[in-house]
Amino acid sequence: MPAVPSLEFRNAACLATPTGTAVRAGKKQGEILRIEGAAVRAENGRLTFVGTETEYAKTWGSRPAEVSVDATGMTLLPGLVDAHTHPVWAGDRGPEIGRRLAGESYASIAAAGGGIRATVAATRAASDEELRQLLRRRLARMRSCGTTTVEAKTGYGLTVSDELRALRLLASERGEILPRIVPTLLAAHEFPPESRDRPDEWVEAIASEILPQAAGMAKFCDVFCEEGVFTVAQSRRILTAARTAGMGIRIHADELTRYGGALLAAELSAASADHLLRIGDEEIAALSRSGTIAVLLPGTAWWMRARPAPARALIEAGVPVAVASDANPGTCFTESLASVAAHACLDSGLSVEETLTGMTLNAAASLGLAAETGSLETGKSADVLVLDAPDDRHLVYHWGVNLVAGVSLRGLWVPSPTT
Ligand SMILES: [Zn+2]
Repeated sequence: MPAVPSLEFRNAACLATPTGTAVRAGKKQGEILRIEGAAVRAENGRLTFVGTETEYAKTWGSRPAEVSVDATGMTLLPGLVDAHTHPVWAGDRGPEIGRRLAGESYASIAAAGGGIRATVAATRAASDEELRQLLRRRLARMRSCGTTTVEAKTGYGLTVSDELRALRLLASERGEILPRIVPTLLAAHEFPPESRDRPDEWVEAIASEILPQAAGMAKFCDVFCEEGVFTVAQSRRILTAARTAGMGIRIHADELTRYGGALLAAELSAASADHLLRIGDEEIAALSRSGTIAVLLPGTAWWMRARPAPARALIEAGVPVAVASDANPGTCFTESLASVAAHACLDSGLSVEETLTGMTLNAAASLGLAAETGSLETGKSADVLVLDAPDDRHLVYHWGVNLVAGVSLRGLWVPSPTT
């Protein structure tokens, strides 16, 4: 691989970052480092200077980097880490929003062949190349919205071969200007429509056929533990098999009903428990004891017009919180994690600082990458987001537009197209 040119960001109005190589919980989640008048330098894809412009000029002023970015008036943030996305699918469910807004239920749309069934059918019918192109477009859009690392799940194939195909696509996608991908097997997203009346067959197929073949490709295994989908016992069966195969564990937990997913996540010391709209004190206490990271998806709660997860109670109980997009074709179709920041603050009650930590360092920690990315500190991967705004608060304050001037992906500068 050719060496990445050295890179510097000069004269930034502000730099804002959480610090450290581990998850930050409780009060610490809201403590970030802000530097006014900042500069950052990277060599060979690693951060070698993070500090004030004045100090930079003294240390490196006579040795400019090969790529120099004038960040006057802008803010430097860690590249965003999106810890929960579903980007491998084909088809279009755009018309469903009209039906939903007109009052038709998800169950009724699904019964008529819409919903996830439509996505599964279109995904199975797509060629490898079509799926790859769709995936790449979504990843590129994520990058253009500031995401430099993305957890990406399978889950719209729902046959042994289609789930492994989605995983192969994710594991082999190494675009130089695409975000870093962390593949997750989510064969337990739903039951295959053709064998819904024999659910245990699919559970066994996942545990005994898919997982052994997925082990080298998927870093995590996830389960949709929910009433009407995977029971707690089925989820436990799949996730313990995943652990035996060497994978980390994530769980879609207590999204629609209070069902036991978060308690299972705590029992298994899962890396993350995601959604958590319906949890109560017992689940919060269990997550706090297990060290499991709560991945909140406020964009989905907003889109579903549901009460958001109890973010403040989680923070107060010392549960580390991450914030992710849940990019998916059914309940939150956006590749922009940045656009979810406003919902994390205004709907869920997080502060801007807690949200920033949740979208960077804590998200990275949930993926086992806190030593590699998630903050702007020397030694870490040069994953930098340049925001066209005077400080980080504009991520929430100046909402609904893309303020990303560009990102550095592992030290490679990718400017946004100028308007
Ligand atoms: Zn999801």
